[in-house]
Amino acid sequence: MTRRRDAILREMGLAPLWRLRGAAEEPAVEAPPPALPLEAPPARPPEAARPPVAASAPARRPLLPVAEAPALPAVPPPRVVPAADLAGLGWDALEARILGCEGCVLCQRRKQAVPGVGDRQADWMFVGEGPGAEEDERGEPFVGQAGRLLDAMLAAIGLQRGHDVYIANAVKCRPPNNRTPEADELAACFPYLRRQIELIQPRLIVALGRPAAQALLNQEVKISAARGKTFRYGDIPVVVTYHPAYLLRNQPDKAKAWEDLCFARKTMRALRDEA
Ligand code: URA
Repeated sequence: MTRRRDAILREMGLAPLWRLRGAAEEPAVEAPPPALPLEAPPARPPEAARPPVAASAPARRPLLPVAEAPALPAVPPPRVVPAADLAGLGWDALEARILGCEGCVLCQRRKQAVPGVGDRQADWMFVGEGPGAEEDERGEPFVGQAGRLLDAMLAAIGLQRGHDVYIANAVKCRPPNNRTPEADELAACFPYLRRQIELIQPRLIVALGRPAAQALLNQEVKISAARGKTFRYGDIPVVVTYHPAYLLRNQPDKAKAWEDLCFARKTMRALRDEA
């Protein structure tokens, strides 16, 4: 680590590897999700509350003929958003569509969808995985502990949330228990990200973690193998690095993420010089 970088990081209140001020060594918030769903299915009533079972069984109700069976409540099939549907939408209409989206099962348990935040004419775009609990609560991406680390990472390369950087997620609704979004959820949500990219036209996209990288690049990605390479989303260069939540659990890999950010900054400088 160079003395200059050390000095910059110290000035920002970050130890050399972006250790957040006051953050616990093993973060509580970003711990692996519990195995059980947070929202348990409705409990069966306790024995006492259930209707008593008649000692001598009453005559069984005859089965209804098929034609008379009560109809099951209709479950609407997920309405995947055709990309063409969003073509030409401006920011307000696009965000309204995201906020009201019912394109996959993630809509069922979200508090709110989280479209994205930042400079809509930014050169830089960072794409994460999907909102967590705090993001779901507040409607803004990366506002929890991983978000504080992302802000520190941005600061380390001279960026600040809202200035020349736009932050979005591959899926706009929180996956239950912060699980990894499924491929069909990523696919259903992708038209929104695509339209955001079309509107922003960033010079460079940084994919944070595997789901974001796979959604953007439409291919299998292993972050450790993809680091230090430049991919393309259409004409736009894409670089990949570890997700901040992963880095909170794997502190030694912060050094690699620092290298990736330096690579991204170098790539951006070259793009600006070309222009
Ligand atoms: N993780 C993400 O990928 N996105 C967020 O917005 C928050 C945590």
